[in-house]
Amino acid sequence: LTTKEQVIELISQVNDPEVPVLSVFDLGVVRNIEVNETTRVAHVQITPTYSGCPAMDVISTEIKIAITSRGFPMPIVELVLSPAWTTDWISEAGKEKLRKYGIAPPMTRADRAAEFGQETEVPCPRCESTHTEQLSLFGSTACKALHRCLDCLEPFDYFKCH
Ligand SMILES: [Zn+2]
Repeated sequence: LTTKEQVIELISQVNDPEVPVLSVFDLGVVRNIEVNETTRVAHVQITPTYSGCPAMDVISTEIKIAITSRGFPMPIVELVLSPAWTTDWISEAGKEKLRKYGIAPPMTRADRAAEFGQETEVPCPRCESTHTEQLSLFGSTACKALHRCLDCLEPFDYFKCH
């Protein structure tokens, strides 16, 4: 493995503190990684999710710890604010992991456009029924809304779109 591949490998073990099944790559927040072959200083650019989420500080720190502990001293983790992160950057693998975790993944912009002003019906992550209702705009964290399936009657978190 090249030093850059080693760094990618280490960073792929860092998960979203709010949704631990998602790695930072699933979440789509890692923009760029450069590693100086001589000094082994890694320069990592990440884009914050939403301002309401305190998770970004945690992610930044976790990335530094993950790299530093494996012999890449003094990594630089830089926040890139533009272009702004959207839930469309969550990978397909990430969406599948969310579903298995019982969280309805965010709909893509295209899905939402198709709704054309209709109230978005979020499919239940358990039975895939679209017969669901929103119980609360805020679920277990500010980034999620609490919904309930009217078929299997299970409440579930919906990862809100941004
Ligand atoms: Zn259901």
